[in-house]
Amino acid sequence: MDAQAMGDDVASVLYTEDQIHARLEELAEQIWSDYQGKDLLLVGILKGAVLVMADLMRALPGSVPMDWMAVSSYGSGTKSSGVVRIIKDLDADITGRHVLIVEDIIDSGLTLSWIRANLESRSPASVEICALLRKPEVAKVEVPVRYIGFDIPNEFVVGYGLDYAERYRNLREIVTLAPHVYA
Ligand code: IMP
Ligand code: MG
Repeated sequence: MDAQAMGDDVASVLYTEDQIHARLEELAEQIWSDYQGKDLLLVGILKGAVLVMADLMRALPGSVPMDWMAVSSYGSGTKSSGVVRIIKDLDADITGRHVLIVEDIIDSGLTLSWIRANLESRSPASVEICALLRKPEVAKVEVPVRYIGFDIPNEFVVGYGLDYAERYRNLREIVTLAPHVYA
């Protein structure tokens, strides 16, 4: 679906599909050159990172494997609980491998710092993070993020994999929601 189909549920369109794709192409180029000759594994965080992963990995000019993790942190609300639970673990053994976590958004950073520490405990060669979006608050917990698509204002956004109560993940754009949607 596109933003037009949401009618007055949309407050504003932050990024169009073209803008997202263009930025992911740039990140892919950077990632490709940084990981030349290294055993790279892309690790997506379900479900929000599905679309970022799909477009980022296709923008890479050579073959790279992927794996997935599912964690719970938010429930259906809009505030981070700080409680992280693994719902689906990796299939792969990451010992000695270069792991790049692919995430949709970093808000408080609680989820990703927990995931990073968890993966680092498995003796990988390295763990880095690529996130499409970052909110300003993340600086507070100091999650070092190697690749960032866009820094956005501290507002709740949906689309391109991001949900509000599991809705709007299939929206092409990234948008902010009109206040009445939360009511
Ligand atoms: P954090 O632990 O606060 O960094 O939250 C990270 C997770 O919360 C992301 O992976 C998203 O699933 C969700 N999240 C945070 N901000 C937003 C938002 O603006 N829209 C949709 N989901 C969000
Ligand atoms: Mg979510």
